[in-house]
Amino acid sequence: MLNKKSIEDIDVSGKKVLVRCDFNVPLKDGVITDPKRIVEALPTIKYLMSHGAKVILCSHLGRPKGTFNMDYSLAPVAAKLSELLGREVPLAKDVVGSDAQSKAAALSDGDVMLIENVRFHAEEEKNDPVFSKELASLAEIYVNDAFGTAHRAHSSTAGVAAYLPAVCGYLIQKEIKIMGDALNNPVRPFVAILGGAKVSDKIGVINNLLTKADTIIIGGAMAYTFFKANGFSIGTSLVEDDKIDLAIELQQKAKENGVQLILPIDNRAGDKYAPDCHDITVDSDNIPDGYMGLDIGPKTEQMFADAVKDAGTVVWNGPMGVSEWDKFASGTRSVAKAIADSSAISIIGGGDSAAAVEKLGFADKMTHISTGGGASLEFLEGLELPGIAALNDK
Ligand code: AMP
Repeated sequence: MLNKKSIEDIDVSGKKVLVRCDFNVPLKDGVITDPKRIVEALPTIKYLMSHGAKVILCSHLGRPKGTFNMDYSLAPVAAKLSELLGREVPLAKDVVGSDAQSKAAALSDGDVMLIENVRFHAEEEKNDPVFSKELASLAEIYVNDAFGTAHRAHSSTAGVAAYLPAVCGYLIQKEIKIMGDALNNPVRPFVAILGGAKVSDKIGVINNLLTKADTIIIGGAMAYTFFKANGFSIGTSLVEDDKIDLAIELQQKAKENGVQLILPIDNRAGDKYAPDCHDITVDSDNIPDGYMGLDIGPKTEQMFADAVKDAGTVVWNGPMGVSEWDKFASGTRSVAKAIADSSAISIIGGGDSAAAVEKLGFADKMTHISTGGGASLEFLEGLELPGIAALNDK
């Protein structure tokens, strides 16, 4: 999976190149509130333009449910791209229709254009071969640079690769290099920090990391299923009763593999699931009736920071508590700070942990912040991502 051709391994000069980007940007009243995903796509786009390619960009935006719905038009993206590239980026009115075809045919070397939201066609998410072929017919080379959707087998992320030479762009190349090295050849000690709502979402990751990491730290609501499995009273904390046996099994497996599995020793708990609840700090074996654990406690913050301090590699996915509420954001903040302060190779999974790191201003202290939440989780699970598997091997 890791030895894929990139844009530098193929001659793009004078060729029409279809580039799948992740331009699924947040919008408010038609205005882009965070252009990060567009900015991150620029190195690949600029490389292709400066090497004489005729660049045809594509992406999805939101969930238009397979119909042309102009609320999900890529027009704001075209405008932002024009601004960032300092030249007009024309937007075709359609995806594979006559406007896209004629605009693509009229491109000169070094030109760039955008086609409309690929999800205006229901065939996209079905990975329909006819639609994939129509997309492919716009170009002579396919580049996938949308890591955020690489775990989906859709026409523009995977299907199209069957009909064209297919390589990755810089974003995907960076993701697979950094995360691949961390999994297969980590600088040790390798510490993984997992949080978030559900054990069930992270079973695959925990299982895979149990064969690779030296230490696995568990925080977030997930921890309470482990506590219950270990016979602690957990009050009204979130628990997955059907995962209790699994929590016992995972702890057993950690012991067998010589992996240190660390659970919180104290917690911040609230008397209801609300930001204005009454909160207390309690040890993990002593959460009172009527209280639910909503964040790790101060002793745990220190313990987790100590585990991170001398790490060679840290991978983090998922918040330590309900970090959306200030009262329960401390654990997530302290983990972000501990990682930022350590000299370890630090890899932050997408989603909540990436948002926390950015909000706290630690982004430039991390080695890598993944551009895909779901995709990075699947990568850490050791699964083959269809959007990467479809690309040509070196
Ligand atoms: P995930 O999508 O699995 O990464 O989970 C993120 C969500 O988990 C966030 O919305 C958090 O509010 C939630 N979460 C984390 N810790 C807890 C907790 N102790 N109790 C309830 N929800 C939590």
